[in-house]
Amino acid sequence: EQELLPPLVAMVSSPGMGHLIPMIEFAKRLTNHHNLPVIFIIPSDAPPSKAQTTVLSSLPHGISHIFLPPVTLSDLPPNTKPEPLMTITVLRSLPSLHQTLLSLMTSHRLSALIVDLFSTDAIDTATELDIPSYMFFPTTANNLSLVFYLPQLDQKCQSEFRDIHEPLNIPGCYAVHGKDFATPLQDRTNEAYKCFLHHAKRYRLAKGIIVNSFFELEPEAFIFLQKNDPVVYSVGPLVNQDTIVDESEFKVGLKWLDEQPHESVLFVCFGSGGTHTSAQTDELAFGLEMSEQRFLWVLRCPNDKVENDSTFIADSNVDPFDFLPNGFVERTKGRGLVVPYWAPQAQILSHVSIGGFVCHCGWNSILESMVNGVPLIAWPLYAEQKMNAILVSEEIKVGIRVNVGEDGLIEREEIASVVKRLMEGEDGKKVRNNMMDLKEVGANALKENGSSTKANI
Ligand code: UDP
Repeated sequence: EQELLPPLVAMVSSPGMGHLIPMIEFAKRLTNHHNLPVIFIIPSDAPPSKAQTTVLSSLPHGISHIFLPPVTLSDLPPNTKPEPLMTITVLRSLPSLHQTLLSLMTSHRLSALIVDLFSTDAIDTATELDIPSYMFFPTTANNLSLVFYLPQLDQKCQSEFRDIHEPLNIPGCYAVHGKDFATPLQDRTNEAYKCFLHHAKRYRLAKGIIVNSFFELEPEAFIFLQKNDPVVYSVGPLVNQDTIVDESEFKVGLKWLDEQPHESVLFVCFGSGGTHTSAQTDELAFGLEMSEQRFLWVLRCPNDKVENDSTFIADSNVDPFDFLPNGFVERTKGRGLVVPYWAPQAQILSHVSIGGFVCHCGWNSILESMVNGVPLIAWPLYAEQKMNAILVSEEIKVGIRVNVGEDGLIEREEIASVVKRLMEGEDGKKVRNNMMDLKEVGANALKENGSSTKANI
């Protein structure tokens, strides 16, 4: 009977925007290229955020969404890290997910359940209902190789990974030091590590893994992954190029950009959650000033408590401008523009005036820069960003990495120098050319006969 019903793909996306946005882009490929309708099923512990509702309310035809009833997390310790928070949210939502899938199956044939990297427990629900499950991996094939190897590494190695001084040899991944592993792998005694390992062991239960990268970008990692189970599909570079943020909010910024020379402005933005200490914010301000280059800086309030990541802190009553060095705005007037909190990044990166991007190396940000041919200054903060910074600066050479001082601070002289190198120097020219080449290769991967189109399920 199921065979006669219309097909539907269900996607489970854990709370937060960083995974939802690229999954929506993948959903658009499924509806446009394969005529497959998609429904997003979203577990949560609270009513939807404004960002979520804005994005979900503007989904194109063929893509719908449903929120599962919020679960309660009030019994968890207050310092619980994001990974266990997301995982437990999904675990506690499994009964309602089961119910929702059952009810969808009365009117549809569920062709697949696609889960994100913190929703692997939903694979069991899919199996119970005989629905093939896939996983959407929102970062690189090199990172996927590391995750696959993690259970073995966990067995083999007793110490903290960060204390191993030689680079580790991970099959299918470039050489990397333990200190550059993703944040949850930095403290093996923490719940966040156990949680990461739990998912890593479960990846193989999926029928296939969909990676938002492309073959030509990381051929060695993809060739390695293709020799093993499960099947790995490269489908990228998928980035959102529509304007999500209300354009009128950024009119002044766009007008200012229109007035600047081609490729002259450095865009400075640290993802949806990146923050710095007060001392680092100062250094960045002085560094930009000393570089004498044009810049557009998305400024957040300094954060001296939670390291580098404010995703889970709501602190919008404070004015970030209060934290800039005295006279900074006046001294850089005309040459620099500071925007508080948030700006339409994808749209800014596509502007002809942008010539470089100081980037925290979130994978979506890197891809958005790549599809626009904008070279990077790699300034990794959290999650798997240090791994991505290695790819950017040492492997594909589309960016220059900042040097961190001994006290953990990136000093103003270093910032000014690296900015000048990118915007005016010879090595800037090289990475810009490499990025322009990759832009072309990435666009080809998505064309009719491109590697990422052929890989589509
Ligand atoms: N973003 C944006 N404006 C901002 C900051 C971020 O539009 O001021 C968007 C950015 O374009 C990207 C996403 O937020 O699509 C950030 O994703 P990424 O994977 O780079 O980093 P994360 O936020 O997950 O650390």
